[in-house]
Amino acid sequence: MNLPDDLPTGTMLIDNVHIAPVAGPEVRSGHIRIEGDRIASLGPGPAPDVPGATRIDGGGCLATPGLVNTHHHLYQWASQGLVQEATLFEWLTALYPVWAALDAEVVRGAATAGLSWLALSGCTTASDHHYVFPKGRGDLLAAEIEAAREVGLRFHPARGSMDRGESKGGLPPDSVVEELDDILAATAAAVDAYHDPSPSSMLRVVVAPCSPFSASAELMTESAALARARGVRLHTHLAETLDEEEHCLEQFGVRPVDYMERLDWLGPDVWFAHAVHLSDGDLDKLAETGTGVAHCPSSNGRLGAGIARVSELLRRGANVGLGVDGAASSELTPLVGEMRQALLIQRARYGPQALTARQALELATLGGARNLGRQDELGTLEPGKLADLALWQVDGPFTAAVADPVCALVFGPPPPLALLLVGGRTVVAGGELRTMAQDAAGRAGAEARGRLAKLAEGAH
Ligand SMILES: [Zn+2]
Repeated sequence: MNLPDDLPTGTMLIDNVHIAPVAGPEVRSGHIRIEGDRIASLGPGPAPDVPGATRIDGGGCLATPGLVNTHHHLYQWASQGLVQEATLFEWLTALYPVWAALDAEVVRGAATAGLSWLALSGCTTASDHHYVFPKGRGDLLAAEIEAAREVGLRFHPARGSMDRGESKGGLPPDSVVEELDDILAATAAAVDAYHDPSPSSMLRVVVAPCSPFSASAELMTESAALARARGVRLHTHLAETLDEEEHCLEQFGVRPVDYMERLDWLGPDVWFAHAVHLSDGDLDKLAETGTGVAHCPSSNGRLGAGIARVSELLRRGANVGLGVDGAASSELTPLVGEMRQALLIQRARYGPQALTARQALELATLGGARNLGRQDELGTLEPGKLADLALWQVDGPFTAAVADPVCALVFGPPPPLALLLVGGRTVVAGGELRTMAQDAAGRAGAEARGRLAKLAEGAH
């Protein structure tokens, strides 16, 4: 495919492409017409002539909606490869002191690399859950927002928080938690400063206390009230491991989903990361309340957390999206590869009909858009939706041997990414980041790792 370096955002016509729109029938050889930041039309055969349009030959490519990442901790890019054989609680306990040394420069470098890596794996919209805010280390949220603007992804930063340190019965050391009032003020300020509710929004803020074992009940309920008063969404970790379940039973007398229900944390404006250890009743509750789940199969495998009951959630009509989770618990995980992980792990547990290739693609696109409350704008290729799409090169000498391009994309290793558009703007072309120098983006992450290691060492 021959592409100009910087495609204009006027009219773009993509011809001769296999379209998997996620909503509606697939088109074997068709076209997509993009006007500005929206999809204007798509269908079989060549695109109609539009004077002055940029015409792209999508021959040999599969077009899908851009992938949506619904759980991440970008700062962890700077602490990959550590504590390789540990449970969640062991891993957290070992890493909290490292993360206590975070500063804005580390977060910016880590986020630049992490978001570039997401873009190169087909992601057009990413949420990030940042919950470590050591005092006096600069504006960490602003740092990752700047990185997202530079890389060019649609971004949903989740202002995380922890107020339940060891002295209050929580898991994290007191050095990495904040005071309740400070958290609520900073979270409200983040919403005021950055949240853009408009339909083409590139940035929406989420309210996201970290987890039941690091956030107090008061922080959870006050956060929910704040988010609902301002019309933003809620996110947290839930039911990731059996350690957490034991902690909830011991400290609160109930299992994690029941605890969330007690705190008014179930509903269509909430999505949970992981949700691995659910009872049958929990599955029903998530489905009935419209509460979403971010499934993170690589991270769950890496930490030995367990296998989420994704296919059972889907059967009940619950919404599930995908997440790579923080890079410290799923090193270098490409978002496109999480479709394969999800599919294989579900089938290993439930059999070959547990998840189809097309269902896996739906989790990575429409499921993610629903978690972020943006299913009317994102997640499918349809006229009127935002022009966030990925073109995958599936006619390579090896890939071409697979009869079905969606099967090649999901069952196989990630194929080359020919083009990634965010609102009609080129972010990746020919497998290369086009919004910034790709090598510099990668190096920023490696430098962040070096800086964090030095800062953490100096703190002891
Ligand atoms: Zn996480």
